[in-house]
Amino acid sequence: MNAAMNAGLGLMLTELRLPTIKRLAPDLCAQSDREGWPGKRLLEALFEHEMNEREVRRIERHRSESALSPDKRLSSFEFAAVPSVSKAQVMALSIGHEWLERGANVLLFGPPGVGKTHLICGLGHALIDAGRRVLFMRCSELVQRLQAARRDLRLAAELAKLDRFDLLILDDLSYVRRDQAETSVLFELIAERYERKSIAITANTPFSQWGEVFVDAAMTVAAVDRLVHHSTILEMNVESYRRRVAQAAQSPAKRAKAATTTATP
Ligand code: ADP
Ligand code: MG
Repeated sequence: MNAAMNAGLGLMLTELRLPTIKRLAPDLCAQSDREGWPGKRLLEALFEHEMNEREVRRIERHRSESALSPDKRLSSFEFAAVPSVSKAQVMALSIGHEWLERGANVLLFGPPGVGKTHLICGLGHALIDAGRRVLFMRCSELVQRLQAARRDLRLAAELAKLDRFDLLILDDLSYVRRDQAETSVLFELIAERYERKSIAITANTPFSQWGEVFVDAAMTVAAVDRLVHHSTILEMNVESYRRRVAQAAQSPAKRAKAATTTATP
């Protein structure tokens, strides 16, 4: 291709906003001229590159909007540390997305430090890799945001905004307290997404203590009922991973001393 044609093509591709084709066109056109490709092959090669890079850019956008911790991946999660959680079951959730179509939920329970946040972030990343949209939020922040929306009479619009996410991860439900005014907004979110859009919740208290979070007993029952109806429940009742790692790093002598101290009634 001569320089004038190249410049003309460059201008057209700028107008069309096809950045990958614009970048690769000179080289691919030269290769096509050299090797005598049919026009169809050249076009296919150009559009294939454009589409692949668009997909990569889309996934990057979804990852940055998700607010997931970048380093909490399934690949760095040590499943052996949590025998009560089946790796196969988690991997199945990360590969088959039929549960997202049904708006099914994932609930993770366990004391602090056992890897609830890490595991659910890992699942979130895997879903983003597969082209899904995920949003991670601390549950207390979400409640604040929805309460502000309700005050400004735009709760419905705020809930609708969250609809574009296939999975909404609400971390640490147990830290939401009644003194965050009234938390019926959380119930409204759960009711609104029921059987349509998935929610994942981590909590370090069992359902029996969720009365602390919702306005009254009836609302607690109604919320738990909807969340549990279609859900995978992962119980992570092990010792804190953080503590175990810290103990492993201690010298054997210190470890022995710690064990004696803990054993003393
Ligand atoms: P939780 O949300 O249950 O309080 P986190 O997910 O925050 O626990 O885990 C605490 C720390 O320990 C994090 O740095 C996390 O990456 C790490 N961690 C916990 N469990 C595991 C695990 N099974 N494999 C690898 N890292 C883990
Ligand atoms: Mg956590």
